[in-house]
Amino acid sequence: MKGRKRLNIPKNILFNLYVSQCLTMEKVAKKLGCCAATVYLHLLSCEIPIRGKSEAIKGSRWSLEARLKFSKAYRGKNSHMWKGGLTSYTEQVKNSLEFRLWREAVFARDNWTCQKCRRRGGDGKAIYLHSHHIKSFSKYPDLRFAIDNGITFCRDCHNKFHKLFGRGEKSGEEKLKDYLIINWGG
Ligand SMILES: [Zn+2]
Ligand SMILES: [Zn+2]
Repeated sequence: MKGRKRLNIPKNILFNLYVSQCLTMEKVAKKLGCCAATVYLHLLSCEIPIRGKSEAIKGSRWSLEARLKFSKAYRGKNSHMWKGGLTSYTEQVKNSLEFRLWREAVFARDNWTCQKCRRRGGDGKAIYLHSHHIKSFSKYPDLRFAIDNGITFCRDCHNKFHKLFGRGEKSGEEKLKDYLIINWGG
């Protein structure tokens, strides 16, 4: 992201504010001078459990404003081109704020570029981006929203990967490494 300072909140500070002092995400954000979406993403990437329903409901209040801010900050040519297609995910998960934030964060980290063929949208070409779970979604529920567990593929490269390696356990990390370094032709 050009000219944008990427805030890096140390885990111990986040833990102290959010867990030890039990502040809400909004209050943590205020203290750190960032927005709630940033705190949210850091909580996810530090694997600090997000507190229960009451905050999630409150969260939906900030989320409108924060998401607007977030999508402005993270707007890439393709960030809104994603169109479903991961049929093994439940609708509920796909539509969850966590999932959408996770996906956006994975795309942003990968600069909206397919990590296999290196295509990026632009020049009038539409590239549909997918976020793929490196460690399987079903086997590793704790890593579902870990940004490090996601990788950006275009739709073609994503489909091809699963065609070659299937889904779940057998399409794990090792296969992904093979997929990224070997030219599979076609
Ligand atoms: Zn690709
Ligand atoms: Zn996948």
